[in-house]
Amino acid sequence: MQDENCIFCKIAAGEIPSATLYEDEDFRVILDLGPASKGHALILPKEHYRNLFDLDEEIAAKAMILAKKMICVMKEVLGCDGYNVVQNNEEVAGQTVFHFHMHLIPRYKDDNVGLEWNVGSLSDEDKEDILNKLREYRG
Ligand code: 5GP
Ligand code: ZN
Repeated sequence: MQDENCIFCKIAAGEIPSATLYEDEDFRVILDLGPASKGHALILPKEHYRNLFDLDEEIAAKAMILAKKMICVMKEVLGCDGYNVVQNNEEVAGQTVFHFHMHLIPRYKDDNVGLEWNVGSLSDEDKEDILNKLREYRG
């Protein structure tokens, strides 16, 4: 299913032109218009899913396999030194386009891409709380 108000549905379907690195029946991989580094790309499923919370499991599995293949090829093509694979779910986590996508971000030495967070420390209280809640959870 597609969402008629979703820009990534239109891009994935080819209704809006994009710099396409790869396409198959399930996905289109495009260059991000606001790249964090040279070669920053997005994997878009052709079906509309808001994010990972509602993503079809078969598409999820295929997306990870495609991410692996893309970064192996693009590492050689771009001559980058590493890759971040980033995927944001909901606004609080930085999602701005609500059609599932995976960011493939090439990393170059001294590239200044800022994906860091402040490192905390796991308290005994948090550890017990989380493990207890998970034990009690009946999903
Ligand atoms: P999010 O913040 O939702 O994880 O990532 C959305 C990404 O989509 C951003 O990196 C942004 O630059 C990119 N983006 C937003 N609109 C377009 C567009 O129309 N075309 C392309 N190629 N990228 C877009
Ligand atoms: Zn969509």
